[in-house]
Amino acid sequence: MMQFGQRLLTTQFFGTKEIIVINHTECGMMTASGDFLSEVLRNQGIDVDRVSVDPALPELKLPKGIFSKWIKTFTDVDEICTQQVELLRNSALIPQDIVIHGYIWEVESMSLRRPYKRLSEKVNTASAMKAKTAKHTEPIL
Ligand SMILES: [Zn+2]
Repeated sequence: MMQFGQRLLTTQFFGTKEIIVINHTECGMMTASGDFLSEVLRNQGIDVDRVSVDPALPELKLPKGIFSKWIKTFTDVDEICTQQVELLRNSALIPQDIVIHGYIWEVESMSLRRPYKRLSEKVNTASAMKAKTAKHTEPIL
């Protein structure tokens, strides 16, 4: 997903009229919870409550306890795509007349589809993804 700042810039100043959000099935972002990832980083000696989250903007720090949410892992690709479209649609920084669509690249069928319009009989869900990567992650909460 394009950074929010770029969306703001292109829609406000560069004449962009439409935003298309594309997520995909089999996404690695479904394989672990934000809390788990934070714990792994803490175990590596990284203080997730104090770490800079943008190397180009070292003064940007997250409030304590937000890192796990900021990572933005998810368990349902259709749900997250719909949420991302709604967040953009409701943002005061994106002009009201910008058209915003959400699509899912369904890896299993190699097709682009709308959220909740599954094409393949079998789509790798978060739990299927977790099983694939079980050696590296804990169960998704
Ligand atoms: Zn992904």
